[in-house]
Amino acid sequence: MAKPALMDYDKALELFEPVLGFEVHVELNTQTKMFSDAPNPAALGNVHAEPNTYITPVDLGLPGSLPVVNEQAVKYSISLGLALGCEIAPTSRFARKNYFYPDLAKNYQISQYDEPIAFDGSVDIELPNGRQITVPIERAHMEEDAGKLTHVGGATGRIQGAEYSLVDYNRAGVPLVEIVTKMIEGAEADAPEVGKAYVAAIRDIVVALGISEAKMERGNLRCDANISLRRRGSDTLGTRTETKNVNSLRSVERAIRYEIQRQAAILEAGGTITQETRHWHEDTGVTSAGRPKSDADDYRYFPEPDLLPVEPSAELIAELRAALPEAPALRRKRLQAAWGFTDLEFQDVVNSGLLVEVEETVAAGASPAAARKWWTGEIARLANAASVDPSTLVSPKHVAELALLIDMGSLTDRLARQVLEGVIAGEGTPAEVVQSRGLTVVSDDSALIAAIDEALAAQPDVLEKIREGKVQAAGAVIGAVMKAMQGKADAARVRELVLERAGQ
Ligand code: MN
Repeated sequence: MAKPALMDYDKALELFEPVLGFEVHVELNTQTKMFSDAPNPAALGNVHAEPNTYITPVDLGLPGSLPVVNEQAVKYSISLGLALGCEIAPTSRFARKNYFYPDLAKNYQISQYDEPIAFDGSVDIELPNGRQITVPIERAHMEEDAGKLTHVGGATGRIQGAEYSLVDYNRAGVPLVEIVTKMIEGAEADAPEVGKAYVAAIRDIVVALGISEAKMERGNLRCDANISLRRRGSDTLGTRTETKNVNSLRSVERAIRYEIQRQAAILEAGGTITQETRHWHEDTGVTSAGRPKSDADDYRYFPEPDLLPVEPSAELIAELRAALPEAPALRRKRLQAAWGFTDLEFQDVVNSGLLVEVEETVAAGASPAAARKWWTGEIARLANAASVDPSTLVSPKHVAELALLIDMGSLTDRLARQVLEGVIAGEGTPAEVVQSRGLTVVSDDSALIAAIDEALAAQPDVLEKIREGKVQAAGAVIGAVMKAMQGKADAARVRELVLERAGQ
């Protein structure tokens, strides 16, 4: 496939204004599916179960089977709607969205159409450059996920060129909330960052609510990005494309940038944009044409006759509103202020995904600086080397205990790393590892002085220099003492004693 021409990004922004819109699908982590009592794979870490084992007649759309609405999924959807600042509809209705595709056995998806459960909200986002933007939310509606096709025999894994296709209905009927934004104008050159920050904000919200596993790489959170360009000085909106299932935050950013450059090149060459879905290719960094897509009435929506309208009571809505967690953006502001971190230090923690760990470590008694240092430093390094999540290595309580031992002068950083190793190896709490491995700092001055006198005697020239006031020469003696003590000494105390013994 020849790569299409791309216009330079800055040039594209000079000529056109990007207009954005997003549809984000969130898989809920309820125990069972949206309309059946089959186990919900999205709550089980999307384990690779045998295909077609998490299914009931409802998920297969077998004749005579009837859907039943999952109450928990409705509650989660209301909570999400409230967290997005939406109004909750006193009455909302399911509708059939008709289309043929082999991963949807009924040939229609149960979704919501003109009566969604939540509407008219907004999400505040902050860009890396400090710019604040309010993303307007059109609606959030409930629906079911489709199954999955695997195309076998082709080079690309796509249907084109495949010899045959397999269908797995385990995902069919997984509860989804689809969040649809209104048109987002004014993002300008920040459009890619707006997309990334918006999807990150949605992820933070669903994680804070605890209603989804929210792993983009597993498809728990999937973003479709609508992008069009409006020529400067024109009131007419451009034709949009819909880039589907962009499955990482970085890809959202890259895909938007790419579409802006691709569309600008076509328009400037006198061409037209086809209204279509497009696929993002993570490996090559391009989008390719999917299927042509016109507007919604294709789907012949009609009210789902097998389900009653959803009518949550005002009491239920009030109860769910009262139970909402602190908004993630506000929580971050509060924690940064409480910890006294610079923007850079705080971003470091957020970007490593260790905010909760640092928070719990501070709550367990460590200083914020120590908590940040251990989690984003040594623990992240060990976790990275072992390809595991840092939070699986050690508990915040143990990290706090380690930090306290350092503060008390019982451990040097070097000894603390050995203690950490022991804790990770399952040898017990930090105190127990200190005990069993004999790692306490030698705090007995007489032992230190003996070692210092020996080192000074061995390096008379150094002693002479220190006496002449060349204090930096003490480094060689301190090093020798630390070595003799096998690192179990507090270097600052050793330095004091060296200078004292040298008569300084
Ligand atoms: Mn949808």
